Amino acid sequence: MTPVPPSEKEPFKVTPWAVEGRIDYGRLQELFGTSPLDDELLSRLRRLLGEPFHPLLERGIYLSHRDLPRLLDGYERGTPFVLYTGRGPSGEIHLAHLIPFELCSYLQRKLGVELWVQLTDDEKFLFSGRAGRSELSLKDTYRLGRENLLDLLAVGFDPKRTHVLFDTLSIRSLYPIALEVAKRVTFSTTKAVFGFRNDTNIGSIFFTSVQSAPAFLPSVRAGRPVPCLIPCGVDQDPHFRLTRDVAEPLGYPKPALIHNRMLPGLLGEEKMSSSADRQDNAIFLSDPPADVERKVSHAFTGGRASIEEQRRLGANPEVCSVWALWRSRFAPDPAEFAEITRTCRSGELLCGECKSRLVPRVQRFLREHAERRREVDAWLDSRIEDGPPPGRGG
Ligand code: SF4
Repeated sequence: MTPVPPSEKEPFKVTPWAVEGRIDYGRLQELFGTSPLDDELLSRLRRLLGEPFHPLLERGIYLSHRDLPRLLDGYERGTPFVLYTGRGPSGEIHLAHLIPFELCSYLQRKLGVELWVQLTDDEKFLFSGRAGRSELSLKDTYRLGRENLLDLLAVGFDPKRTHVLFDTLSIRSLYPIALEVAKRVTFSTTKAVFGFRNDTNIGSIFFTSVQSAPAFLPSVRAGRPVPCLIPCGVDQDPHFRLTRDVAEPLGYPKPALIHNRMLPGLLGEEKMSSSADRQDNAIFLSDPPADVERKVSHAFTGGRASIEEQRRLGANPEVCSVWALWRSRFAPDPAEFAEITRTCRSGELLCGECKSRLVPRVQRFLREHAERRREVDAWLDSRIEDGPPPGRGG
């Protein structure tokens, strides 16, 4: 199993807990041993899914995979698969967190497949207070977890085809499988994959087995092998390499993965993430309209030092955090996205105008999302596996 970078030769670092430096995605694929989502595979997906083809696939935001062709072979022979994705509740939801859920929503709508969502409140409790992270109690992670789920599921799912595994509530379903996994994973493997040390708490070391369990639970429930596809950020790949390593020895199909690139932060960082002093790096789903306007107007761009220079030389969308927002969701019409990209490069579009155009799109998206969030509140608790115990409310 490939240890997580970095080394002195790699000027970037990608782990489930930290992304540093400018990621060379081609090099990362070599280091992780993943496969590119190439034109042939994208054409196959397009044939299967029809139009409209999702911008996250069309525009290279999903860029690599593990075993996707094998999963599609099975599906086309009549073996349905399930989707599995998740969230560790350490804070509020921002736009980057929605990406795997948006792909899941699209795949569920197109193929009618089931979704299993894992909410890892245990993980965030165990890992809090380390490496500069603030301390979170179990009460905090429960409260954040429920709030996060409302935001994530408001992307749009069929409640009847959606299962929620809220770790501290659904542990009865997860624990027998987590034990099977844990028995086959050594401490030295977790050290190699995650960089754990002798002073790492034992809950963190065990946790990866809990994160593997949802990939196998549908097979346990069905009493037969059920293939699983995990859409996730490429930084989460190490967790699931380990899941894949133990799958077949335990009699389960190896889960397939499809990875998205990181959505850049508004302050020019490689990954949209936030901390108490970096709130303007991300757009949160709870941001009021004035905050959206302020954040977008201060966002890092690929523009030039002066208007004259930009008109003459054009700008560079590839490094621009505003362009990344257009690309991901705010210009769903391919013709509009192509026009923004072309006029940015040519210098016809200036950054101020581009940002002014984006702000109302983001504000409207957040307004509509808040409406859908209220609808999810009506059904969320009924979809939590093993159910919330009476009186548990954070
Ligand atoms: Fe970014 Fe828009 Fe400026 Fe291009 S014109 S660099 S997309 S803000």
